[in-house]
Amino acid sequence: MLKSNNRARTTLVFAGLVFILLAAIVATALYSFREFSLLGAKERARMAAEIVRVSLTEAMANGTIDKRAQLLGRVAHGAGLREVRVVRGRGVVRQFGEGMEGEGGRDEIDQAVLARGLPEYVIADDREGPMLRATIPYVAERGSQPACLQCHQVAEGEVLGAVTIRISLAETRDLALKWVFVLVGIAGFFAIAALYFMRRQYQPMAEVALNVETAVIRATGGDFGMRLPVPSDGAARDIAAGVNRLMETLGMGINVINAKVEQLMAYDLPRSSNMLLSTLEMVEGLVDASRFKQAIEEDETKQQIYERLARVIRDVFDINQFSIYEVANSKNHMRAVAVDGVTDAEPHWCDQEILVRANACRARRTGHTVDGILEPLVCSMFKGDADDSGIRHVCLPMLQSGNAGCVVQLVATPDTAQLVRALVPFLRVYLRETAPVLEAKRLMDSLRESSLQDAMTGLYNRRFIEAYVETLQASVIRKGTHLAVLMFDVDHFKAVNDTYGHDAGDKVLVAVAGVLKETLRKSDILVRYGGEEFLAFLVDSTVDGGMIAAEKVRAAVEARKIALPGGTLQKTISIGVADFPGDSGDFWEAVKFADTALYTAKERGRNRVVRFTPDLWQANGK
Ligand code: GH3
Ligand code: MG
Ligand code: MG
Repeated sequence: MLKSNNRARTTLVFAGLVFILLAAIVATALYSFREFSLLGAKERARMAAEIVRVSLTEAMANGTIDKRAQLLGRVAHGAGLREVRVVRGRGVVRQFGEGMEGEGGRDEIDQAVLARGLPEYVIADDREGPMLRATIPYVAERGSQPACLQCHQVAEGEVLGAVTIRISLAETRDLALKWVFVLVGIAGFFAIAALYFMRRQYQPMAEVALNVETAVIRATGGDFGMRLPVPSDGAARDIAAGVNRLMETLGMGINVINAKVEQLMAYDLPRSSNMLLSTLEMVEGLVDASRFKQAIEEDETKQQIYERLARVIRDVFDINQFSIYEVANSKNHMRAVAVDGVTDAEPHWCDQEILVRANACRARRTGHTVDGILEPLVCSMFKGDADDSGIRHVCLPMLQSGNAGCVVQLVATPDTAQLVRALVPFLRVYLRETAPVLEAKRLMDSLRESSLQDAMTGLYNRRFIEAYVETLQASVIRKGTHLAVLMFDVDHFKAVNDTYGHDAGDKVLVAVAGVLKETLRKSDILVRYGGEEFLAFLVDSTVDGGMIAAEKVRAAVEARKIALPGGTLQKTISIGVADFPGDSGDFWEAVKFADTALYTAKERGRNRVVRFTPDLWQANGK
């Protein structure tokens, strides 16, 4: 519609311009033809007047003046004039009489020319078409040949008479019209040719421009699906094809990005929405969530993580009414860690029953999102929708090891309900990021409290390694790596107890544990194995690496000045090193081999590192 309108308008404007051009050509041509033909006709009239004058003078001289009517007729006929007649001036009438009929002056123009001595030219239409009537005076002049004043008894400058000549302009008019027709024909031909050419050249370009405009508008709205019709040739074809390629590339690109982002967010965009904007929003959401993850990984406690999550819900999502519940370790209890942005507040959106019976919470029990906006009254624990205030909730479980370890509840008013639902996929990304971090923190917390740790040194105890051995063993075998097993025993430790007392002995043990923690890697597993015996499992380490690490520990213990009441003490340590599975594919046997090497170190004088070799086993007679 728009397209054909545009074409019609262009054609109309062009036709208007052509019309004006033709009108100008016709007007100019007619005017100049008229001027030229008038000029020519006047010239002919003047010539004819001169011939008449000469002929009349000759007739007078020859005495044939009486036959002048025939003479004039001949002149008129010969020169193709419509009429030739003369009138006499007053002086000639006085001298020769009135003359023939009509020679006394017929009309006002004759009279005026006789009176003033100036020619008159008048154009008038009569039955035969347009005519030029010229009335030209003969004035008596002294020096003329033959001399006027010889025969005429008149004063010099007096008007002797006048000749009136009528010339038809019809012929020249017809000629002019014919040529104007020819001109209009030529101009019209070129105008039509130009219009055709313009349509061929300009019109496809205009159509492409219009289509590009539409495509750009749609692309700005996130729709890259429009394809332009491609004209068969010319620059318009290149432009249309280029735009189509661009749209295809953009569309494909945005689709790929969109699919990946949707995958990352685990959320399908509604197809009607602006893909560009919503993808951008999602990418921004993902970037924010990843920043959030970095921040919580560096948080020290679970509580800090909960507080950060509460801040995100309040500040980023702009939701002020919400709860975060934590499922207690005992599994069937819940605790409100944040309510409406306040930490450790009393829960008031839900029935308190969920605190003592976590499974009463639908999200906790099912591990599914509970959408009370879509399905009001879906959870009997939510108290907000008991009245007709229209308050609704969406509860999102945060899954940890397959169970809801946490439940985030968003509360919406009728005004905010749709917005809250739209935010759910974004919040889910945050919860997905938070879950593993919280789980790790939980595990750490429970480990700290559990019986797997040695309270005095903070290292793992023997029970931990007993519980963990299978996982550790399987992981080393699966990865095809080695585990360096280091066993430590403080030299002459009994003497410390005996000399400085048991408390001093404990201080030495704490100091030695400190050296182990400082010297070995975070990923290594440190165990207080017995009284003053320690074990270290160096993950992904060959026995050579283990020897180097053991030597570092030995030197560090030797250099350490242990503060005791009343002075400092320096102790040494002996270390045995074995390789799992290099020395033995049996974990506990590898530990035993490390112990054998340790025994050898003691035997060889203490304060040294000994690597296990099979001969030591035989030498010890074991
Ligand atoms: P060696 O160089 O041969 O190792 O000599 P040693 O004196 O260290 O001998 P041994 O390893 O047999 O000594 C173990 C002693 O460590 C026995 C016990 O009194 C002491 N011990 C064990 N556990 C603790 C503890 O928790 N605190 C203190 N203060 N002493 C402990
Ligand atoms: Mg010992
Ligand atoms: Mg000892």
